[in-house]
Amino acid sequence: MTRALVVGGGIAGPVVAMALQRAGIESTVYERYPHAAADVGAFLTFAVNGMDALRAIDANGVVTGIGFPTPTLVFRSGTGKVLGEIPLGGSLADGTVTQTIKRAEIYGALQDEAARRGVDIEYGKKLIGAEQLPGGGVRARFDDGSHADGDLLIGADGIRSTVRKLIDPAAPEPRFVPVLNVGGYARGVDVPVGPGTFEMTFGKRCFFAYAINENGEIWWFANPPRKRQPSQAELEAITDAQWRDELRELFAKDNGPAQAIIDATPGEIRAWPTFDMPKVKTWHNDSMIIIGDAAHAASPSSGQGASLAIEDAVILAKCLRDDRDIPTAFATYEGLRRDRVEKIVESAARTSNSKAAGPVGRVLRDLFMPVFLKKMAKGGDKSAAFMFDHHIDWDAPVSV
Ligand SMILES: Cc1cc2nc3c(=O)[nH]c(=O)nc-3n(C[C@H](O)[C@H](O)[C@H](O)COP(=O)(O)OP(=O)(O)OC[C@H]3O[C@@H](n4cnc5c(N)ncnc54)[C@H](O)[C@@H]3O)c2cc1C
Repeated sequence: MTRALVVGGGIAGPVVAMALQRAGIESTVYERYPHAAADVGAFLTFAVNGMDALRAIDANGVVTGIGFPTPTLVFRSGTGKVLGEIPLGGSLADGTVTQTIKRAEIYGALQDEAARRGVDIEYGKKLIGAEQLPGGGVRARFDDGSHADGDLLIGADGIRSTVRKLIDPAAPEPRFVPVLNVGGYARGVDVPVGPGTFEMTFGKRCFFAYAINENGEIWWFANPPRKRQPSQAELEAITDAQWRDELRELFAKDNGPAQAIIDATPGEIRAWPTFDMPKVKTWHNDSMIIIGDAAHAASPSSGQGASLAIEDAVILAKCLRDDRDIPTAFATYEGLRRDRVEKIVESAARTSNSKAAGPVGRVLRDLFMPVFLKKMAKGGDKSAAFMFDHHIDWDAPVSV
């Protein structure tokens, strides 16, 4: 039986292991953290195309109901004027719409489901090296001195992938996108929307977004612009009080609930720099391949990173099911995936850059965005349909 080593137990890792199991390929997932789903404090929108990909392996049920539905986006300018309203991906045949889910909860749900299906997940296993074996196959080496052998190795190890560099030492580093991600959860603010709508404000100085959960909790994030990438030490040195002051100041001239929501957020406010991974030339060699953020991270503005990682996982398993010659299956996989993911990464980068627009860019954005959004709402813009309407039929044979 073919045996796969899966590095990374985030989103793509557990899903590829479940999909491989369906394809009759045994695997073990190796995750560097010593325990499941550490709470990294952020949330994500999980789009319908990701849900469709999970459905291909009958795993969509595990993420339904752990977040809340957010099928609509409303865009406003800093004055409060509505720039447009668009559906966030429509709905699947059974009525499923895009969900907003805490990161830790989607990780936990996928890891638990993989374990329930009998997938072996080993925690506290940090990959530090891997080499192709002379007689075929691959050996993975971990920082605890242990190693594991398999026929192939799948790097689902995220944007700072070790496997990417093992396949191609010249692979690029993640690209800094000139905004930070700051966010939290608030209660007790009267906001002018009900559950189901993500309100997105292109403020005068900063982008702000929020949605209200059915339980009354407001989930929000802001994207303070930064021309230069701050170091981890610089970010950690910013106190909670400093964040609150900076955000209050950034939203002082906007007409909306941002300041009230920030004031009503208890506890620490944390920030993450934003990166993407626009073009990784080499995704695989004869026995190792990268998927998910390791190969093509889209900036969070896309709302697509998790969904693309899941699509990758299911499609790679289909390729290996249909062709047991590993290099051929890898080549088929790349042929099926590269164009789609790179288009989405590029479009997300444009959105992120528009969040950091200067005064002139802001005026142009507010002028043209209503036209663009109207076109999208009427279905005249194919770029959104291209993202959301992707469908995977598990039983259909792969073909490029
Ligand atoms: C602030 C923020 C907001 C986001 N918002 C959205 C959103 O709204 N919608 C959306 O779809 N996406 C969003 N994303 C992106 C999304 O989280 C990623 O695209 C998705 O998690 C990618 O899944 P992955 O499995 O490829 O990588 P990851 O989820 O990063 O998982 C990689 C795993 O590999 C492990 N690992 C790393 N190195 C090693 C090693 N050497 N050995 C063993 N294990 C290792 C890591 O610990 C981790 O568990 C956001 C990201 C951020 C940072």
